[in-house]
Amino acid sequence: EAQMPPGEQLPRYVRVNTLKTTVEDVVDYLKRDGYTYQGQASRLDDLTLKEKNFVKDLHLPELLVFSPKTDFHDHFLYKAGHIILQDKASCLPAHLLNPPPGSHIIDACAAPGNKTSHLAAIMKNKGRLFAFDLDAKRLATMSTLLLRAGVTCQQLANQDFLKVNPDSPQYKDVEYVLLDPSCSGSGMVCLQDRTAADQSRLASLAAFQLRCLNHAATFPRLKRLVYSTCSIHSQENEDVIAAFLQQNSTFRLVRLLPQWPERGLEPLSQCLRASTSKTRTHGFFVALLEKHSEALSSTP
Ligand code: SAM
Repeated sequence: EAQMPPGEQLPRYVRVNTLKTTVEDVVDYLKRDGYTYQGQASRLDDLTLKEKNFVKDLHLPELLVFSPKTDFHDHFLYKAGHIILQDKASCLPAHLLNPPPGSHIIDACAAPGNKTSHLAAIMKNKGRLFAFDLDAKRLATMSTLLLRAGVTCQQLANQDFLKVNPDSPQYKDVEYVLLDPSCSGSGMVCLQDRTAADQSRLASLAAFQLRCLNHAATFPRLKRLVYSTCSIHSQENEDVIAAFLQQNSTFRLVRLLPQWPERGLEPLSQCLRASTSKTRTHGFFVALLEKHSEALSSTP
């Protein structure tokens, strides 16, 4: 195994906000701004870039990849909400959930809202996006971020997701849930030294994560549920999913992106993992759960 490159060595990823612009327009703008476009990446090594070179990502269609030292925080495209600065791994959940325009969705633990804005872009701002977060301050940041990104289909609530009533009429058409709950953060390269595995903390996070999954599963019209963490610990990832599947026999895992280089730990290879060494991202885990069609058709 190659040695884990430090955080400064990770590529910088830029998600194009398709609510405001297109990938082509951003590429053209950046070319005029002194960046050198090298086309679409075709293998992982193409993501190792120097200076002002950039490429289109090989897995995610709206993602551009830059050299590790690139900083767009003061750039016009960022300030105008045309680009979102988001690690590649954290673009997976919304991309994989892929809710069609018009659908009703819950983003259960949503702040600061990068995945919410990605969902809104995929839905083309059509439909309803119910977003919850327990932390009022993070929710305020989120509301600024969504405004800048031109998101209009959201309904934000400063609420404990575990206390959201699945039988409330406003959620009767919710078919998709994105669940990105609090986790140890052990996959974040910059935090890695500070997050030595504390078993009792991991156990309590895992219990919370499983409760959130179980709660999400109680929404009556639910079809697809995506679960993600920025943790590298199986206690918060495969173990939580395995426990959920044991308690919810109407759900099964969807096999994700066959061409993705890092899988969930066996036997949950349908899920994806991400890491600095294998995917050039922060550490991450994502699972997509789907309700059996028999279970759906028997729903009144
Ligand atoms: N999905 C977000 C994004 O992509 O920008 C990041 C979410 S962060 C990993 C987890 C969030 O869950 C935190 O903002 C935290 O305040 C929130 N949270 C924790 N417990 C919660 C609960 N019971 N109900 C709703 N939100 C909760």
